[in-house]
Amino acid sequence: MKIRKGFVAATIAASMLLSLAPVRADAFCLWNCSYTKTKYPIVLAHGMSGFDSLFGVYEYFYGIPSALRNQGATVYTTQVSQFNSTQQRGEQLLAQVKTIVAATGKGKVNLIGHSHGGLDVRYVAKVRPDLVASVTSVATPHKGADLANYLRANVSGGSFTESVLAFFANSLGTVLGLLTGHSNPQDALAGLDSLTSSGLAAFNAAYPAGVPTTACGSGAASVGGIRYYSWSGTGVLTNLLDISDASLGLSSLFYSESNDGLVGRCSSHLGTVIRDNYFQNHLDEVNQILGLVSIFESSPVTLFKDHANRLKNAGL
Ligand code: CA
Repeated sequence: MKIRKGFVAATIAASMLLSLAPVRADAFCLWNCSYTKTKYPIVLAHGMSGFDSLFGVYEYFYGIPSALRNQGATVYTTQVSQFNSTQQRGEQLLAQVKTIVAATGKGKVNLIGHSHGGLDVRYVAKVRPDLVASVTSVATPHKGADLANYLRANVSGGSFTESVLAFFANSLGTVLGLLTGHSNPQDALAGLDSLTSSGLAAFNAAYPAGVPTTACGSGAASVGGIRYYSWSGTGVLTNLLDISDASLGLSSLFYSESNDGLVGRCSSHLGTVIRDNYFQNHLDEVNQILGLVSIFESSPVTLFKDHANRLKNAGL
């Protein structure tokens, strides 16, 4: 029994060390050092309840910025309200994009958003297309998320449950904001409404660029000179050691199509669909938690690096 416990502890410890490896391995570059050297800076935008880094150390896009920088990219992570409407989050992101453009003098940026972040970047591209070279979404529910539909339908307006849900989400957002040194306003219900099918139908009508006009097709590859791309996963239970897999397994039951635990395959389509069925769940896509992803699928870090190379080759 003692031996078995020791083995489990050693396995977990080894796995944690391995999961940290990408950060260390990317601390210096030995080959192909301009693979991700895009013309314009890469700006990463987080999803609902996300953050740029906790205590200035723990990253939302785990190990990804350093991997991209190591092979030549200039990368910025951004921070908006964890829970709020796309318009509110989009305005906060836009302010940061303006600062980045001014600081780098490059004129434009390549925007990449995960989950709700993919809607924020679409907002910025619509409001200030002159500042945007490309828009990429990773597992963004462009046609809505079934879980958001369920929650909205089962939380009646103004009820006690709604207040309690909103309180917890707003508090979580505020705590995450404090931990990350930001204090953006939180509005959980506005955030939820932004992710329902009806919320997205209204958003897509006002911000249509790149959105497929058919149920599960691709969108326009380029709109007004801005390139549009997307990718996503349909894995759910991908790593036995990751405690988040169980909750994603439960949330995936709310979906009628294959999904990553929170976003459906077809709903994730925007512009050129790079791929929509990686064996990755909603957190794997940003290399969470602590790099615990499937060992049978391409590393999420590799997917981001390959995409930076794709942007570079497109002259972006
Ligand atoms: Ca994971």
